[in-house]
Amino acid sequence: MRTFSKSSKLDNVLYDVRGPVVDEAARMEEQGTHILKLNIGNPAPFGFRTPDEVIHDFRNAAADSQGYSNSKGIVSARKAIMQYAQLKHIPNVSMDGIFTGNGASELIQLSMHALLNSGDEILIPSPDYPLWTACANLAGGKAVHYICDEQSDWYPDLEDIKSKITDKTKAIVIINPNNPTGALYSKELLLQLVQIAREHELIIFSDEIYDRLVMDGQKHISIASLAPDLFCVTFSGLSKSHMICGFRVGWMILSGNKALAADYIEGLNMLSNMRLCSNVPGQSIIQTALGGYQSVNEYIVPGGRIFEQREFIYKALNDIPGITAVKPKAAFYIFPKIDTKKIPIINDTQFALDFLKSKHVLIVPGSGFNWKEPDHFRLVYLPRVDVLREATGKLGDFLSTYRQ
Ligand code: PLP
Repeated sequence: MRTFSKSSKLDNVLYDVRGPVVDEAARMEEQGTHILKLNIGNPAPFGFRTPDEVIHDFRNAAADSQGYSNSKGIVSARKAIMQYAQLKHIPNVSMDGIFTGNGASELIQLSMHALLNSGDEILIPSPDYPLWTACANLAGGKAVHYICDEQSDWYPDLEDIKSKITDKTKAIVIINPNNPTGALYSKELLLQLVQIAREHELIIFSDEIYDRLVMDGQKHISIASLAPDLFCVTFSGLSKSHMICGFRVGWMILSGNKALAADYIEGLNMLSNMRLCSNVPGQSIIQTALGGYQSVNEYIVPGGRIFEQREFIYKALNDIPGITAVKPKAAFYIFPKIDTKKIPIINDTQFALDFLKSKHVLIVPGSGFNWKEPDHFRLVYLPRVDVLREATGKLGDFLSTYRQ
């Protein structure tokens, strides 16, 4: 009998949102076990709520959103994104250089497909948000990972980046604020990254979906604002800042020297037209969401949930013998290190699986973020402090005897 296999295009793509640990958690849940899930950056299930005004506008928009829109998005949405880009000092942004998408995810995939030929290289951080690596490889390119240095607040290692540039390197991806490390890049660092891109004539892709979730009074700087002479693509969306991952609202902004990328932009336009348009009711709330009062600001200051949960998780993890973690400055993830001399671990997926089976807590092993050593894991600190206390208590208890 004829059977069907997945396309060979997927052969060198490593991306499995489920994977053995999540599959096991699902199996355990089916059997009635309660699992504490610290694996997913999805705020709504943890009691975070989008402003009522956004829901209200989404509801009202549904009736008038029955047709396809312009493939890049409705005018009011793109205008609001353009004004947002102006406030972030992103240069040379025009309405036809703004694309709305079904989440930033769709546009990340589209941007890689439009750019990469077989063998083209693109620099991507390690650890990364793994969709970038998967999309680059699926598009036929080659993701080349540069190291982010835990000793330096998880900043990209500039020498490592330079050493990995070849004549096939077309672009560099930065994720700022960062998932999974929670790092926030300084202006000095961004200028150095721009200089590397300038010297080697690279496109800059900047994933800034957490730019409105920055703590400690710091300000997020868009790298595109520092690179008017280069071609930049900046990604963002409402999933995280407005706690509406399920609405699938994202965008990308082309900026800087667009003449360098006229042919590439034609490719982006083609692919954008091919998917017709993004979810129209979702587009219609962008103006409401980006304007006026920003409820997310309440979460990220002292007394706010994300801030206080960050304070708690940072201390609780560092109090566990054998665990150290850099304090996240933004987003809602932390990427702790396991001292594998004290706690011998050679396979981080096995560690996550054993922890799940033993304590019913779900975390993601570092290898899920293209981190090469088996000595890290990512934890989402969206749950309330009492839940985080329970989870870190269980982790400390588990690691006190765990050996591989
Ligand atoms: N970029 C980063 C760094 C993310 O962490 C995520 C989601 O977790 C996305 C992009 C995808 O966002 P969206 O929901 O807009 O597709």
